[in-house]
Amino acid sequence: EERETWEALDQYFSEKLHAFDPVMDWVLEANEKAELPPIDVAPNQGKFLYLLAKLKGVKTILEIGTLGGYSSIWMARALPDDGRLVTLEFSEKHAAIAQSNMKKAGVDGKIDVIIGPALETLPTLKDKGFSSFDMIFIDADKPNNPHYLEWALKLSTPGTLIVGDNVVRNGNVLNKESADPSIKGIRQFIHLLSEEPRIESTAIQTVGIKGYDGFVVGVVKK
Ligand code: SAM
Repeated sequence: EERETWEALDQYFSEKLHAFDPVMDWVLEANEKAELPPIDVAPNQGKFLYLLAKLKGVKTILEIGTLGGYSSIWMARALPDDGRLVTLEFSEKHAAIAQSNMKKAGVDGKIDVIIGPALETLPTLKDKGFSSFDMIFIDADKPNNPHYLEWALKLSTPGTLIVGDNVVRNGNVLNKESADPSIKGIRQFIHLLSEEPRIESTAIQTVGIKGYDGFVVGVVKK
């Protein structure tokens, strides 16, 4: 079956290219034990985010949607000693598990987990001393993606890298008539990007242990 091949190849690449990462494995186990939904990025996607952050030499990262901190930890590992990652999470339970995972991974000193609905916490970032970020990863409630894009622009500088996850959703994003608020949110997000003169972007479809999905990548123009 096609899906089995995708999964087996994800396993193969992860084992070959970044195996023996006991910390990251431990994080996924802790999330499973705490009964978090298994909607974190796949290991190879986590490593991809880490590589993007490294490639760009980012010092500041904003993440919208923490869950158990799996993607936060991958990205925080790419930060220099004086780097900072701010991650926004609605659920207190998720935030608590994430903080414990970050501590275990030894990156808690570089990360601020801010609890609350992101649309309420985003406006507080400036006062907290975070006026812009080098990289922004949007991975929370998809109906709010259009708002998150607006905030990403407000919190960016020329060169900021913006990544948005789950823009394919098994192909359902193609459905113009969909009544699903997540599909509508993603379609509006893509539409705003198409009309946004300040960002250059593209989207990549992916298959693997998380099924058929994809992500959008954009860079704020200089
Ligand atoms: N980025 C994480 C990873 O790859 O490990 C996965 C994030 S998960 C897909 C989405 C998270 O966003 C959930 O933990 C959910 O509680 C959180 N969330 C949902 N709505 C939110 C909101 N309005 N504000 C902040 N976080 C929200």
